[in-house]
Amino acid sequence: MSEVRTLKVALLGCGNVGAQVARILIDDAEALAARSGARLELSGIAVRTIDSPRDVELPRELFTTDADTLVKDADLVIELMGGIEPARSLILTAIQNGACVVTGNKALLAQDGPTLYEEADKAGVQLSYEAAVAGAIPILRPIRDSLSGDRITRVLGIVNGTTNFILDQMDSTGAQFADALAEAQRLGYAEADPTADVEGHDAAAKAAILASLSFHTRFSLDDVYCEGITKVSAEDIASAKEAGFVIKLLAIAEKIDSSDHGSGISVRVHPTLLPREHPLAAVRGAFNAVFIEAENAGELMFYGQGAGGTPTASAVLGDLVSAARRLVLGGPGRTETTTGHVPALTIDASDTSYYIGLDVADQAGVLARIAHIFAENGVSIEIMRQTIHRDSASNVESAELKIVTHRASEAALAATVEAVKGLDVINSVTSVLRVEGV
Ligand code: NAP
Repeated sequence: MSEVRTLKVALLGCGNVGAQVARILIDDAEALAARSGARLELSGIAVRTIDSPRDVELPRELFTTDADTLVKDADLVIELMGGIEPARSLILTAIQNGACVVTGNKALLAQDGPTLYEEADKAGVQLSYEAAVAGAIPILRPIRDSLSGDRITRVLGIVNGTTNFILDQMDSTGAQFADALAEAQRLGYAEADPTADVEGHDAAAKAAILASLSFHTRFSLDDVYCEGITKVSAEDIASAKEAGFVIKLLAIAEKIDSSDHGSGISVRVHPTLLPREHPLAAVRGAFNAVFIEAENAGELMFYGQGAGGTPTASAVLGDLVSAARRLVLGGPGRTETTTGHVPALTIDASDTSYYIGLDVADQAGVLARIAHIFAENGVSIEIMRQTIHRDSASNVESAELKIVTHRASEAALAATVEAVKGLDVINSVTSVLRVEGV
């Protein structure tokens, strides 16, 4: 019987995810060896502080603060430190030394992925990052491999659990944003500084990765239009609900053929109204899901836990086994296909449906005047609903108008809203939100 090869695995980082990866590497060594065709030997774990408390008890002799030396002596490197440096330099060192790399570092990939992919291609090693988007959900490999014979036209993702939890709380309890955020922090779903999540930056990094793989072109964070959820109010949620919608923070990548802006890919993150019957509307709490539309496959949805040490470790180990198998069998690493070369379009080129809330005077002819402005700007109305309110103190009646448009360009919509604001019968524009899935 031929001798089973041993591959040295260097682990960089032993936090939420790294500690679980180390545990599984040790506890499931036999099963992982059977699936990889090689023994995966955890050769060391690089951390900042050796004696920091850990979620998992691990042999102390595995720990080191000398990540450089650890990386240089490894066949496989798992980067779970996060941040840009030293993660970036360590990954480059690993690649240049011929090691395959597995990472969950979406911030680094969105910022400098192209350099890393090119270096990996040149060295003929595999760089895998399933954990970087939607945690445990196998989504990148299905896009890259299973759908490589198809043409993806649109990707809609709930890829940030914190914001989904907050919006879901607001939807189910009527809470304002600040209260729902405080609850998310109390339960450990949001960090003390929630900026990266609530401003949409984390989702934007994932949108860049999803768009790159879906459209075979390298997109970076600079190509992503990003709007977070801090301005979404309880009133927006309530009126969306009344009109049969739910508000989700979506990462969207879609192919657009625009007469004004040409063909390209719109990559964006923003709060979005979805019909309550849309499959993504059913994604509750901190769960993630990615909805894909492809020319031949039609609609597909991938759902699961988007974060957490153990679920994310599952994605990391899947990549590790696949990279190990590649080392055992030989041959070059799987390269990124960048055959698309389609340009990223700015938000002005995107065309979606819109939801507009208006507080208007309850007078005859108001609806006709508003409808006229929409028509003048080429924005066609799909739904218009009016609710009358009477202020008990002043006895003055006002009306709340909710309008859902057909698909329209950002520019046409902006011009419409500006013109509507100028009407003397408009008390205020209460919300302007994009709608998908209608
Ligand atoms: P974490 O809990 O903050 O752990 C980071 C680990 O890296 C710690 O063990 C830390 O060492 C070590 N580290 C940081 N800087 C270092 C340095 N300069 N030198 C050596 N060691 C260093 O992070 P995490 O939540 O496990 O996330 C790790 C990566 O996975 C990130 O890129 C994150 O975006 C990604 N990810 C996380 C999740 C999740 O649910 N947490 C989900 C998907 C993807 P000490 O322990 O000594 O401080």
